[in-house]
Amino acid sequence: MRYRWPAGKQSAVVLSFDFDAESGFLFREPEKAKRSLGDLEERRFGPRVGVDRILRLLDRLKLRASFYIPGWTVENHLAPSQRIRDAGHEIGAHGNMHEAVGFLDAAQEEAIMVQQLAILRDHLGVKPTGYRSPSWDVNIWTPGILKRHGFLYDSSLMGNDVPYEVDSGVGPLVEVPVQWLLDDAPLFRHVYGSSNGIADPGRVLQMWSKEFAAMHAENGCFVLTCHPFVSGRASRIALLEELVAYMRKFRGVWFTTCEEVARWHAEGKTAATTRGEKSPRRPGAAKRRR
Ligand SMILES: [Zn+2]
Repeated sequence: MRYRWPAGKQSAVVLSFDFDAESGFLFREPEKAKRSLGDLEERRFGPRVGVDRILRLLDRLKLRASFYIPGWTVENHLAPSQRIRDAGHEIGAHGNMHEAVGFLDAAQEEAIMVQQLAILRDHLGVKPTGYRSPSWDVNIWTPGILKRHGFLYDSSLMGNDVPYEVDSGVGPLVEVPVQWLLDDAPLFRHVYGSSNGIADPGRVLQMWSKEFAAMHAENGCFVLTCHPFVSGRASRIALLEELVAYMRKFRGVWFTTCEEVARWHAEGKTAATTRGEKSPRRPGAAKRRR
């Protein structure tokens, strides 16, 4: 059964940005981070240049986007974080020091959740409805922590290409799914010893365009995940602009945020219906009633 979007819409597109800055490097390689100015500066390109280029791009395109910001980044790069908020974009949680939760037990993960929410509240006045897990690393118990802390949705899993629900033990949590194909990091980041080269933006434009066209035909939810220190580079900003221009040639594309997608899904009108028929309940909802 095809996923049903709001009236007149055939698919959804979300541009999302994970504003990590140095946080992930500090978590994964704390010893190296004490001396490697090279690694730190590579990531500082995000707050210094990338974020503002992205904000100018979104302003030109008249699009709202979803930004996920670790607590550490908010505290240490407050001005660009405020500019994201002041431009009206969605801000979601993304760990405190970009802790990949596979390294944490449930108590540690919950403590970090409390810290990151306090930082977003105290420094930005934001109570996020959404969470993007650092490195898309999610524990079995993570959805329960998110529900208990009032989140509407997660955007870190790959179990579908339309919004769906994951069980949290305390009711379903909306999932706005991601996928590796639509992440800039494996395509564009230089990592010594990895099998990836640095991709030609033309090739990435073609790949993302093809994925979009196919997902649009499937009534999908196209969530692109980019990082300001990776996609803030000049030719990649140009790529994003070209990609949006291409997608705008299609009829019925809903350019929106993960939060709006999650709210739409939570309304429960997403099952396809024929004209005049009452909207059937989602299978998950039906099961819970029994
Ligand atoms: Zn991240």
